[in-house]
Amino acid sequence: MAEQRGTVGGPVLTEWFGRANLHKLEVYEKLGGYEGLRKVVTGMSAAQVIDEVKASGLRGRGGADFPTATKWSFVPKDHPGPKYIVVNADESEPGSAKDRYLMENSPHALIEGAAIATFAIGGHQAWIYIRGEYDLPYEKLRDAIAEAHAKGHLGDHPFGTDYPLDIRLYRGHGAYICGEETALLESLEGKRAQPRSRPPFPAIKGAWGQPTAVNNVETLSTVPWIIRHGGAEYAKRGTEKAKGTRMVTVSGDVQKPGNYEIEIGVTYRHIIEELAGGPFPGRKVKVFWPGGSSAKVLPGSMLDTSTDLDGLKALGTMGGSGGIIVMDDSHCVVKGAARLLRFYAHESCGKCTPCRVGSNWAVRTYERILANEGSQIELALLDRVQQGLQGGRCLCGLGDAAGWVIQSTMNHFRNEYEEHCLHHTCSVEGALIHA
Ligand code: SF4
Repeated sequence: MAEQRGTVGGPVLTEWFGRANLHKLEVYEKLGGYEGLRKVVTGMSAAQVIDEVKASGLRGRGGADFPTATKWSFVPKDHPGPKYIVVNADESEPGSAKDRYLMENSPHALIEGAAIATFAIGGHQAWIYIRGEYDLPYEKLRDAIAEAHAKGHLGDHPFGTDYPLDIRLYRGHGAYICGEETALLESLEGKRAQPRSRPPFPAIKGAWGQPTAVNNVETLSTVPWIIRHGGAEYAKRGTEKAKGTRMVTVSGDVQKPGNYEIEIGVTYRHIIEELAGGPFPGRKVKVFWPGGSSAKVLPGSMLDTSTDLDGLKALGTMGGSGGIIVMDDSHCVVKGAARLLRFYAHESCGKCTPCRVGSNWAVRTYERILANEGSQIELALLDRVQQGLQGGRCLCGLGDAAGWVIQSTMNHFRNEYEEHCLHHTCSVEGALIHA
């Protein structure tokens, strides 16, 4: 995978990437690492930390795009029992591999960020829930946590203070749904990973019934930089409302797939054509997912769309997890959508009927279409199923995401669906269709 930077104001997350052994405490610390945590525990109040992050405008990079400081401020200050930071490192969105990249290269940035966040909510314990399949990031984090403990940056007296801070690592259970924050908490407690009904929200009743803030890897890895340089400095990057930089993973039909740090506001054309090398010779970008497979697709004619998160929302899609999936004009959109629906149907936890039944219904409909058995009935059925999947009828976003794949591909590529259903052919991949 290519690894390059695409920021105009200078990189934040990847500032020190490329230095040998950055994953080692000695190297990270020499560059200025752990200065943020030292500053926080020796001279700042929890409210001051929250104010600094608020000034940065940092929003969650796991997909929800919620202001990080606001999330921390929801955790009750006067709660008498434990309060937790839980790091969502269960990166499993198709098209996204940026958290893995961050954890492998700079595990101490995440550890430092998680410790600062724990201090900010008035807690003493953080958990990192890491995707079960992520062996190398697990090993890097495990060793880095041990180094931080041995050096006295974590433990009973970090930096000589009497404010205990501990971080524990927990391996995930290998299901996409474990990345949904309340399903993750269930899994962390040793139960079957299924989303909880909300309210109560995790900030009030999270892990083991205690107030909990769940933050994404990239979000927390950004925090040490903000504390070192100040929230105002971070806020100079990005757009008026969507501040800072973010990681994107570009995959699919591009010449240089990989992880890139971009300043929010650059266009998808800049990312796909300049950073990721564009499509292969003779090919054109036909469609792209701007924020992981859960984001509504945009056609290649919209490559000049900005990565501004509010702008994407106005278009009905989202920056999501930052996974940009590119499909060129040699591929059939109907077949691509069918493949994603098989994924969502397989990963549905089964707790709500619209998702459990609807996603499987959609898969069976796509199978008929790709077996040249489609008709006007299948077109109408897909439309009804996508309406049933989305619109708040499900407990979590998986149902919506499955519906959005159908809806957005049908919106932009209705002609391909009609070719398949009404004429039993595919002008893109030919008459011989492999499901
Ligand atoms: Fe489970 Fe799907 Fe309901 Fe989410 S939407 S809780 S994955 S059944």
